[in-house]
Parts: sequence; C-alpha cells; structure tokens
Amino acid sequence: MPNRGNLIVISGPSGTGKGTICKKLLTMNKNIFYSVSATTRRPRPHEINGREYWFLSKVDFEKMIEENELLEWANVYGNYYGTPSEKIDELRLQGKDVLLEIDTQGALNVMKQVADGIYIFLLPPSLDELEKRIRRRGTETEAVIKRRLDAAAQEIALGTHYNYVIVNRNLSRAVNQLNAIVVAERCRTGRNLEIINKIKNREI
Ligand code: ADP
Ligand code: 5GP
Repeated sequence: MPNRGNLIVISGPSGTGKGTICKKLLTMNKNIFYSVSATTRRPRPHEINGREYWFLSKVDFEKMIEENELLEWANVYGNYYGTPSEKIDELRLQGKDVLLEIDTQGALNVMKQVADGIYIFLLPPSLDELEKRIRRRGTETEAVIKRRLDAAAQEIALGTHYNYVIVNRNLSRAVNQLNAIVVAERCRTGRNLEIINKIKNREI
C-alpha cells in the first residue's frame, strides 16, 4: 500500500496570486491533484465548468450542503464556495497529494477536521501591490474589488494559524517555494517508515 498522500491547503487574500501559482505548481509537479471547488459566483471569461470551479446555482449548492457532500464551505465575498469531499480521501489513499485553494474561513474549518493537513498562507508583497494586482486582473466590478480589499487585512492576520508562509513577490520564486514545501513534506520520516523497514529487511 502506498503512503497516504498529503492534503495541501493554500489560502491568502483575493488577488495575491493563488490561482496563478497553483496552476504553475500543477504543471511542475504531476503528483498533485487539484480539488475543484463548487461556487455560486459567475464564471469569469476563460473559466471552464469543472476546471476552475463547478459553477452551481444557489439551490444546487444548498443541496450539496444539506446532503453533506462538502468537506467545508463558506460565504466568501458574497458567494458560496465549497470543497466537495468525495474524491479527497480516495486520492489520498492512492498516495496522491491533493491541493485545496480556499479562503481563510474554509482553511480554519479544514484545520479542525484534518490534523495532518499542510496549511500554507500566501501573502502579497504589500497591500498596495495587492490592490494593483486585483485591478490589473480586471475581472471584478469596483464594488467587488472594494469588498475584497476591505477583507484583506483581516485575512492576513489569520496567517499565524498556518504551517508555512510564502510571499508572492517574484512568481517563479514563490512557485519554487511552494513546490519545495510539497516535496519536503513527502520526505518526512513519519511518511517513510515503510521504506525504511523494507530496505532494512531486504524485502526490496
Ligand atoms: P488569486 O487567485 O489569489 O485571487 P490570481 O492568481 O488571480 O490571484 O492573481 C491576481 C493577479 O495578479 C493576476 O492578474 C496575476 O496574473 C497577477 N500575479 C500573480 N502573481 C504575481 C506576481 N508574482 N507578480 C505580479 N503579478 C502577479
Ligand atoms: P475567486 O472568486 O477569486 O475565484 O475566489 C474567491 C475566494 O474564494 C478565494 O479566496 C478562494 O481561495 C476562495 N475559495 C475558492 N474555492 C473555495 C472553497 O472551496 N472553499 C472556500 N472556503 N473558499 C474557496
């Protein structure tokens, strides 16, 4: 039986670069599976149902909550977002790492349920740079941008609850740091007891 895969959770304020970094990590490290969240927000141009998110109606999302199909869910900046639990345990049992990109409420909720998760907080270099990035992305209305920026300072204060912090100043450096964490976590002694024994006992 392979070692159980890790649950890797990445959070940070909107516009920090989570989506950009996760996409790059997934091309760099093929052992990681991205957990596609469900949401009631409208798709942005270029977003595809089932790739970035499962785009659901409020009624369908509430049905998933009722039927206990979500590991966690939260109302984030006025829309529902949640993590379908179905595939996570199955993939981890197959030895695969699963990546969740979720907000701070969701991450704190998962921390209570998954003690061996790896919790990573992504910071922008500054709040001014965060604002520039959200505006440059150009996918939200002014009201939505304001709501997201207003939440940012409070969200950043929650960074102390995580195992790791990465500052996304230089993109490729941040991606390399994230991958380094994922790779190092796989090398933890506790995850390699089986291989230690097999080699010691000449089973391989
Ligand atoms: P999030 O998923 O955290 O909301 P995105 O990945 O959508 O953030 O990134 C927000 C914007 O910032 C995007 O336009 C993205 O291209 C840009 N961006 C991401 N990382 C960097 C970086 N290191 N330097 C400059 N711009 C960045
Ligand atoms: P966006 O609308 O910019 O794609 O995402 C808004 C926020 O929702 C981000 O902070 C993102 O990490 C968070 N988010 C995405 N999926 C989930 C999820 O499944 N659960 C929770 N709690 N937050 C999520």
